[in-house]
Amino acid sequence: MQDLMGRSIDYLRVSVTDRCNLRCVYCMPPEGIPLLPRQDLLSFEEIERVCICAAKLGITKLKLTGGEPLTRQGLPDLARRLRAIPGIQQITITTNGVLLKEYAQDLAHAGIEIVNISLDSFNPSQFFKITRRDCFPQVLNGISAALSAGLQVRINCVPSYASDREDLLSIAKLAKDSPIDVRFIEEMPIGQGHMGTGLSSQALRSLLVSRYGPLKPTGKKGNGPAVYETLEGFTGRIGFISAVTEKFCHCCNRIRLTSSGFLKLCLDSDQGLDLRQLLRDGIGNEELVSLMKEAITHKPEGHQFGAHHPLPGSMAQIGG
Ligand code: SAM
Ligand code: SF4
Repeated sequence: MQDLMGRSIDYLRVSVTDRCNLRCVYCMPPEGIPLLPRQDLLSFEEIERVCICAAKLGITKLKLTGGEPLTRQGLPDLARRLRAIPGIQQITITTNGVLLKEYAQDLAHAGIEIVNISLDSFNPSQFFKITRRDCFPQVLNGISAALSAGLQVRINCVPSYASDREDLLSIAKLAKDSPIDVRFIEEMPIGQGHMGTGLSSQALRSLLVSRYGPLKPTGKKGNGPAVYETLEGFTGRIGFISAVTEKFCHCCNRIRLTSSGFLKLCLDSDQGLDLRQLLRDGIGNEELVSLMKEAITHKPEGHQFGAHHPLPGSMAQIGG
């Protein structure tokens, strides 16, 4: 469907939990975030109903996210159910990779095609500093398991201004020898993220060019805002998600379902619809579709990062 700005909305990010087994510095405080009582998380049945209604409104692509989605028991089963919804053409997942070795095969069998794995450092001690957990080997094993299971792998890296530049180049190099896309995401002022702490896409481009030669545009886009470019001799692509320095709200195609069942229309706005309440009050699908349609029509124009204080909460609650 289209919103009032004429944007075509076809992508829903579904956060299945606010729990996480890491504590990334830009996402959560060391002690973690206050967790929702379990009964406040949408059940799989409720998530499925929302996705059925979303599909009726033209959503064709779903992303499972969190918190850490693989900490929610039975996730491959949910993926299988969502993939079977008429109109849903693609399901992907964003994970920190810690539990991926265990689940990669099941996810592939469930119909997941693409797995985004977050990795901000290729150096175990730096990885520990960023995530506050000693899980680097598990993530590497997760990446290998995903490739072996035939999943398309994308690495998501949120580079900090303070990141070691050789470390960032090592992450980019993953795209050299393997069919992996490496995407650099600008840090956003959400959760524990701040304006100005993250490295800009422009700074990264310069760094990559100084080591690997010119970046060439591919002219191809992913499901959303990533701009993909290639480097000579690289198998995979390099993607840039420049939410802060190259605002892309005018072509935003996404909405979000938080783990508590709130239909969130923009990362930087608390405008939306409490679907959990509606579902638990016994609303029928037809009325649900109609209320969702009305809400999505009024999706906010765009973010105002930097113009006001960050909204409270964490990406782990919203789903990134
Ligand atoms: N736990 C999973 C993971 O880390 O991939 C999924 C949820 S996480 C919230 C989704 C994505 O949001 C990750 O790639 C993470 O790096 C990113 N993220 C979290 N906080 C961010 C921030 N303040 N700015 C930019 N990206 C952020
Ligand atoms: Fe957990 Fe993902 Fe947030 Fe890191 S970015 S703390 S892995 S939810």
